Amino acid sequence: MVAIGERIDVAAATAHDNFRLSMMMLSWSAAALAALSFVLAIGFARHRLLLLATVLAAAVAARIDGDARALQAMFAFAPVLLLIAAVMPEARWRTRRNAAWLLLFAFALLMTLHAPAHVVTALDEFLIALWPGTDAGRGAMAMVLLAAVVCLLRWIVRGTVAELTASLALLAFGCALALLHDVERSLFALTVCGFLIVLGLLYGAYRMAFVDALSGLRNRRALDEAMERLSGIYAIAMVDIDHFKSFNDTHGHAAGDVVLREVAARLRRHAGAAPYRYGGEEFCIVFEDGAVERADDLLEAVRVAIEAHAIRIRPIGRDGKPGKPKDVKVTASFGVADRSEKCKTPKDVISAADKALYKAKAAGRNRVIRA
Ligand code: GH3
Ligand code: MG
Ligand code: MG
Repeated sequence: MVAIGERIDVAAATAHDNFRLSMMMLSWSAAALAALSFVLAIGFARHRLLLLATVLAAAVAARIDGDARALQAMFAFAPVLLLIAAVMPEARWRTRRNAAWLLLFAFALLMTLHAPAHVVTALDEFLIALWPGTDAGRGAMAMVLLAAVVCLLRWIVRGTVAELTASLALLAFGCALALLHDVERSLFALTVCGFLIVLGLLYGAYRMAFVDALSGLRNRRALDEAMERLSGIYAIAMVDIDHFKSFNDTHGHAAGDVVLREVAARLRRHAGAAPYRYGGEEFCIVFEDGAVERADDLLEAVRVAIEAHAIRIRPIGRDGKPGKPKDVKVTASFGVADRSEKCKTPKDVISAADKALYKAKAAGRNRVIRA
């Protein structure tokens, strides 16, 4: 028989072991993700995320170390560094701004590791004084929240994945500060912060590789990959905007870009299948499954939608400056081909669709021609 006291001891020891194990795993994952986000941010030249990853790495080190002074420094320095990193414009790496930020970071590190306690406390108090009426925790969190809002606004205006990533990562960092008294939860929040940066960087790289930045459609590389996977019955359509060169010459390239974006939006809305930007002012639509039979109707719907859509542009005036906004309309020509005995591979189908497109151009443009 095991005495009750012994059983309690064993249970307590097991709980302690479990806690140590979970802490070890959390510490490792937080450190690994901070390091990975740092390396990926360098690799993809995302400088704002690199600065966030730098602070994150230092914060993870401070949290794992658990020294009171390191944690105090995290409250004192991290929010300021993060806010400056969020406010600075994303620029080349070798700028004075980035150098100044790194000097500030080095100063914070030096202070944390070597400055006498009263200096750190004085600095801490000075920084807290920037946020009157708040305690250290609230002031720090307000600063990080402000940094997150700055990045979020930039994302709303520009739509860059890196800004949304920075904003979410900053929120996670803010949570880590709010939970700093709880070792496990704050480490978890820092792990989430690193995970978000890594995920955002990878997703950004995926978009760069497979999505066309101007039109937002999938690009030629994505089409090549999709073509490798095509099988069974399918149809491919080639789409080309009519007289686009003269449109550019008349209204300027910026207006041409607006047209490309608007035509892409019509394709996305009406094609009922996956549209791709093939290159220049040419697009490609791949019809699979149920859409194959409806391809002609869908293409006619897209053609009409493009023809009818008034596009607001600001044409370039004679002085080279954008003039008054005005509405313009464009048309597009379409060639479509099915997979058949004659066209066995996706390449054959594309070239048949291309020939049909030339026929559509020769026949007067703004029409759909089947191979
Ligand atoms: P067609 O009706 O026979 O198709 O005549 P087109 O003028 O449209 O044909 P062409 O191939 O001669 O011209 C294509 C033009 O597309 C040339 C180039 O200026 C323009 N273009 C290609 N890519 C872009 C782009 O990304 N932005 C802008 N603004 N123009 C582009
Ligand atoms: Mg063309
Ligand atoms: Mg054209």
